[in-house]
Amino acid sequence: MAAAPAPPPPLLASHAAVRAAASRVAAYRPIRVAGDDHPPQVAALRRGDWVKLICGASFEDAADVRNLSLVYTLAGVDCIDCAADASVVSAVNEGIDVAASIVPSVQRPWVMVSVNDDCRDLHFRKAEFDPEECPPDCSKPCEKVCPADAISLKRVIVRGEHAQSDPVSDKLEGGVIIQRCYGCGRCLSVCPYDRIRAMSYVRDPATTAELLIRSDVDAIEIHTTGKGTGMFNTLWNSLGESVSNVKLVAVSLPNAGKSTIDFMNAIYTIMQSRAEGYNLWQLDGRPMSGDIGRGATRETVSFAVDLTSLPDRPPGFYQLAGGTNLHTVDYLKKAGLFKARTLPGTTTSEKIGSQEALIGGIAYGGYARKIVGRVLHKMPSQVGCMRIENHPGYLLEALQEALSLVGPVKGYPDLPK
Ligand code: SF4
Ligand code: SF4
Repeated sequence: MAAAPAPPPPLLASHAAVRAAASRVAAYRPIRVAGDDHPPQVAALRRGDWVKLICGASFEDAADVRNLSLVYTLAGVDCIDCAADASVVSAVNEGIDVAASIVPSVQRPWVMVSVNDDCRDLHFRKAEFDPEECPPDCSKPCEKVCPADAISLKRVIVRGEHAQSDPVSDKLEGGVIIQRCYGCGRCLSVCPYDRIRAMSYVRDPATTAELLIRSDVDAIEIHTTGKGTGMFNTLWNSLGESVSNVKLVAVSLPNAGKSTIDFMNAIYTIMQSRAEGYNLWQLDGRPMSGDIGRGATRETVSFAVDLTSLPDRPPGFYQLAGGTNLHTVDYLKKAGLFKARTLPGTTTSEKIGSQEALIGGIAYGGYARKIVGRVLHKMPSQVGCMRIENHPGYLLEALQEALSLVGPVKGYPDLPK
């Protein structure tokens, strides 16, 4: 078992403004669908206002994960999705605990771990290079393009043993901060010397199974590439009975065109063997691109439009991801799918499964991390200063950023600007 998280620090009197904003979120109780006795997270999926924070399947910077989890818990997300790593899971739970110590009535989000069945999934890779192979005068575009500040390079002077006579040269030191790299791949394409490699990996099923029996893990997400059910089946069997411990099993998949629906139905058949909780399909439009710009969200919305028009899609909730950002709600509204229970232009009642909304909600990753990360990076970086609750001004600013994303999905009324 992982070590118990550190106790939350004593609350500061100046958290009053944070408490006021977050208490209004916690007090917001949307109207429940008649007969809905599901957990609040599932009620949100049924209404179509579920929000998930994606910390990143490969993002393992525990300090940032903890602070992100704290802020987005206060903002009222339903689920926090993180790397399937014991220390990262503990960091998420510590962030949630601190949020609950600030606003005791806050809803505790489900904690989800993300794994893959195939090393070809882009979320499960790390960039790697040897800075000694880089020309010392490189302008370091890799460092500039990285959205995670995961590359740090410094040009240093190298002197020979005999300082007077040996020539002076220089070189680059540093490289990829592995815990922060989440595999977006942007550095790979900008390196003018082709020095960066992508190292792919598959999460160990035995480690994942251990995580799933932890009481502070509620859900698993399996990323699959849609290139065949064999690897999914192998992973599913390796996870064994551990999957019956979680409340929700999500499958994240890309749009593979016409074959997608058959693939999903085959996966659903496999999962029926042991999954006892709810199931969710994550429609991964344009992976890891939400922070790039407005149009990044188009692919996931068009994936949703394609799937919701198909009557033979498998049961379960459907949620967007991959390119989601501040514009996703608008795109969903234009497609007639925001909190919609019937297809645009029809009166056909949604008949599959227990859900009401055709699209259960939205998962935010890179964009969510970017807007709160801007605040986190303003904090002093000395040891002991990385806890955002020790900086109530920054915490309030970060919460307002988070609410600007979560609020439009949830429909919170009268939040402070
Ligand atoms: S793959 Fe993405 S996150 Fe990783 S170092 Fe490169 S740019 Fe940064
Ligand atoms: S862009 Fe390429 S060569 Fe330049 S510092 Fe980065 S990895 Fe090295």
